[in-house]
Amino acid sequence: MKYYILFGPPGAGKGTQATSMVEKYNLHHISTGALLRKEIAAGSELGLKAKSLIEAGALVPDEVVEGMIESEFKTVTGVDGFLLDGFPRTIAQAEALDKILAGNGEKVTSIVSIMIPDEMIIERISHRAAIEGRADDADVSIIKNRIDTYHSQTEPLIEYYTKAGSYNEVDGVGSIEEVRDRIFELVDKF
Ligand code: ADP
Repeated sequence: MKYYILFGPPGAGKGTQATSMVEKYNLHHISTGALLRKEIAAGSELGLKAKSLIEAGALVPDEVVEGMIESEFKTVTGVDGFLLDGFPRTIAQAEALDKILAGNGEKVTSIVSIMIPDEMIIERISHRAAIEGRADDADVSIIKNRIDTYHSQTEPLIEYYTKAGSYNEVDGVGSIEEVRDRIFELVDKF
């Protein structure tokens, strides 16, 4: 099984690029953000807890998303691998993922990191707000908190995976097709 991690700041285009990767490489897409939004829409207890954190631009507790990932790994079959989008987002989550995979004799295949400069984040997310109607996209102060959260809690993963030898970066500036082709060129090697 292949285990790819789609990495990058909010608004880098992870969700968009996930769609083409899933199709080309027969992967199951796991977006922790989408799973959390589903819980919110369903009005579950977990959703209620997650809502206020997400709308503050903060992260939900590690255990919550770790549990989601583990249950997807257990229930999904018939694919050549998994595409993790928005997970891991903290060093603790990365360590938990390594442990879950090691328990099955597996490991992370590669990080696919989509990089865009901070200035583009607000521009892209504000554009998406009008299309997708996400509450955490609607307000510039929430977007700024998400960027801060990314720099303080998620960016350290670059060093973590660089040390592990699995970190790979593509330039996220360009058209959707240009970025897609850069990703395909990279992932074709694995
Ligand atoms: P984006 O990549 O645009 O920031 P996501 O859909 O991946 O959006 O995530 C939306 C929100 O869901 C995050 O800002 C965070 O509050 C929460 N979330 C998603 N994934 C995780 C995670 N792995 N750990 C903690 N919180 C998460």
